[in-house]
Amino acid sequence: MAQRWDAIVIGAGPGGSAAAYDLAAAGARVLLLDRARFPRDKPCGGGVLLSAVRLLPYSLDPVTEQTITTFRVRYQRRWQFEHRYHEPLAIMTQRSRLDAFMAEQAAGVGAEFRDASPVRQIDGTTITLASGDVHEAEAIIAADGANGVVRRALGLPRLRAAVALEGNAPRDRQSAAQRWTDAVGLELGTMPSGYGWVFPKGDHCNVGLGGAPAAGPTLRHELADYADCESFASDALTDLRGHHLPLRDSDSALFHDRTAFVGDAAGLIDPLSGEGIGNAIRSGQLAAEAAGSVLAGRADDLSGYRSAVLREIEPDLHVARQLQALFHLTPWPYVQLLRRSNRFWTAFCRIVRGESSYSRLQAQIGPGKYLVEAAANLADRRLRRSARWQTD
Ligand SMILES: Cc1cc2nc3c(=O)[nH]c(=O)nc-3n(C[C@H](O)[C@H](O)[C@H](O)COP(=O)(O)OP(=O)(O)OC[C@H]3O[C@@H](n4cnc5c(N)ncnc54)[C@H](O)[C@@H]3O)c2cc1C
Repeated sequence: MAQRWDAIVIGAGPGGSAAAYDLAAAGARVLLLDRARFPRDKPCGGGVLLSAVRLLPYSLDPVTEQTITTFRVRYQRRWQFEHRYHEPLAIMTQRSRLDAFMAEQAAGVGAEFRDASPVRQIDGTTITLASGDVHEAEAIIAADGANGVVRRALGLPRLRAAVALEGNAPRDRQSAAQRWTDAVGLELGTMPSGYGWVFPKGDHCNVGLGGAPAAGPTLRHELADYADCESFASDALTDLRGHHLPLRDSDSALFHDRTAFVGDAAGLIDPLSGEGIGNAIRSGQLAAEAAGSVLAGRADDLSGYRSAVLREIEPDLHVARQLQALFHLTPWPYVQLLRRSNRFWTAFCRIVRGESSYSRLQAQIGPGKYLVEAAANLADRRLRRSARWQTD
């Protein structure tokens, strides 16, 4: 016999836990499921932009390992420059800590959190766990990440995906790690449609890079080269792991009847920065709001979630796709702009802090945006023709 809930959230990453938190805080009976035993790690740089930190109704201080005020940008493994901002830009955490903490917050306001509970089957709003247990709800929130089961179970097409590889440089074994405390490193102009990064944590630095799927076979070699270039011993990197970064196209499905896809399950990663935690949280919150309307009898399905994402998130993703195409066709002028223009750097920092957005920036350039749009379309077509982007 099926156990009944108001809402079931599948996946306890940032998207799922944010959704479960809001629903439970509003008084709904929520089941939050994850297939992994928590705390669990996940391939991720663990950089949380201030724009994402600010979305949460609680502080991330308990899981913050470094606070970032500085960007050290390297161009094509060669020259480097550094910019500092007078306010925090991001925090660095580890996903094993962040995700366990966020699931705990959801449980703290009343969500029933069950880890080590993989969902095997989904039929409408009825789900079956690997254990054979059956649960039913008024609404399902699919927050099951890049390799989730729900999209597949509903017969939806796979999303386009970037690829990334990362490893850790322990501070006690790699002296170069001492250089990194309040600065993150970005390496631009080498990875096709991507970049490299150094993200400092408490006891290690996370070093990684990612890009278009065509870069997949070169990732190992490129990571070693980049790590060496930043004076890490590439052959001593630990915990090497790779993963996909799913990216939605403007018409990719966001819901199906009473199931909403959030975060990576909806491909809501920013294609320019590869940042996905912020949109996972925000989409989880929007899905919780739409599920609340279903529970209150104000809506029959989760189409309200789709409208909310198209209003709040998609406009920025649209501009990010344009910027991504333009940047990667000819990175050099943009890197120079970031290096030389204080105005550009400040605009970048304001976006990272959630005080502005790509679309607000675009609105400021007035009719010039049509020129950007046309140039981006051309750049996008050229990049796609170069076979960097194919559905994996
Ligand atoms: C190498 C790499 C580096 C990255 N670095 C950053 C970064 O520094 N900053 C940033 O903002 N973003 C980063 N991202 C993107 C970020 O990791 C994701 O966008 C983010 O984790 C999405 O959150 P989510 O809640 O949608 O999904 P996830 O965090 O992937 O969570 C999905 C959850 O669903 C669970 N699940 C899956 N299937 C089932 C099932 N059948 N039953 C039950 N549970 C299931 C999984 O166990 C998992 O816990 C990076 C991605 C990669 C690959």
